[in-house]
Amino acid sequence: MTEKRTLTVLGATGSVGRSTLDLIARQPDSFDVLSLTAHRDVDGLAAAARTVNARRAVIADGILLQPLREALAGTGIETAAGEGAVTEAAAMGADWTMAAIVGTAGLRPVMAALRGGRTVALANKEALVSAGDVMTAAAAESGATLLPVDSEHNAIFQCFDRSQPKAVRRIILTASGGPFRNRSLSEMKSITPAEAVAHPNWSMGSKISVDSATLMNKGLELIEAYHLFPLEPEAFDVVVHPQSVIHSLVEYVDGSVLAQLGSPDMRIPIAYTLAYPARMETPCERLDLVQIARLDFEAPDEERFPALALAKQVLRARGAKPAILNAANEVAVASFLDSRIAFLDIFAIARECVEDFDPPAPASLDEVLEIDREARRRTHEFAGKYCI
Ligand code: NDP
Repeated sequence: MTEKRTLTVLGATGSVGRSTLDLIARQPDSFDVLSLTAHRDVDGLAAAARTVNARRAVIADGILLQPLREALAGTGIETAAGEGAVTEAAAMGADWTMAAIVGTAGLRPVMAALRGGRTVALANKEALVSAGDVMTAAAAESGATLLPVDSEHNAIFQCFDRSQPKAVRRIILTASGGPFRNRSLSEMKSITPAEAVAHPNWSMGSKISVDSATLMNKGLELIEAYHLFPLEPEAFDVVVHPQSVIHSLVEYVDGSVLAQLGSPDMRIPIAYTLAYPARMETPCERLDLVQIARLDFEAPDEERFPALALAKQVLRARGAKPAILNAANEVAVASFLDSRIAFLDIFAIARECVEDFDPPAPASLDEVLEIDREARRRTHEFAGKYCI
């Protein structure tokens, strides 16, 4: 990278946000940090803003403005608070924006960043799952470059020949299988939140860790992939690969299969988007194939992990269904993390909401958010029946 670039990190205090800031802090001369945002973690946000010398720190929870001001007193770093302030930070036209807010809360900021027409590194998969059509249309209109951060989509992006998309026959997303790959259905009834957030290969935020444990994450990723790569839904497959060394594969019509490999460290795909189209050094562990010795693959078990089949069904139906699945899953995962419902009920609740609610396809972000609100309201109702 030659020119200094301006950056904004949305969700700076989360797992992806911290990995991004780790890379930025290692090359302070390459980046000028405009804004960092968080939800409620005032201390984490203030510490991060000091470390990378951000111009502005924004906290989404409006009542935390005063503590944030106090935490940054004397630094000259500007402060702001509220959901609108997060979206404004996203709209400020940074050369590069990391979209790493978790969940639907990220949708307006992602849209604002895409409308700015610069580069958006997208970790917030929920934006493409819920609002894929409106997000990709906004990117096409503004000329924004959308770079996938999710390790699977980043791998596909690196292997996919965009000059000849018709030469691609199949996209294969790899899944680690999560922490319960070998548990029987009856053992899965008593899984606790602490067990579900302990992923065997990746260190991630709690929501995506639970999604990985139910395999809903892979289902959401199928929908995300569909919006990023121009193939029919049937062309996307999932294979379980417990070592998480191959991050995904692209099969061409001639039978060639290209894969991207690397240690399971999110700083690798983040660095790819940060330096794109160049490459940058990272401190990540190098892959030692001899030490790894073997790579295993198996078909996903859709009986024990029915979330994957539900997501495929939703992808084929499209319209409002992906937004409903995303909202219902988010509510159900939060209920599970609060120990209000059992692990297997996450899927049951999500399916009930997807099947019960059938509004017309959304044509704008406002319509997506309206569907999201109603789906959440209904999911809370359904979840009441499952309370433990
Ligand atoms: P975390 O839960 O670790 O972090 C979430 C971030 O979003 C935090 O900065 C949090 O702030 C902020 N946030 C939460 N709620 C709101 C809100 N209502 N308004 C504004 N900001 C909010 O999540 P991850 O970093 O794990 O994941 C972020 C996104 O990236 C998710 O969409 C996830 O699916 C995706 N992803 C994550 C991967 C990973 O390895 N972690 C891999 C691939 C994709 P605060 O800290 O103050 O709560």
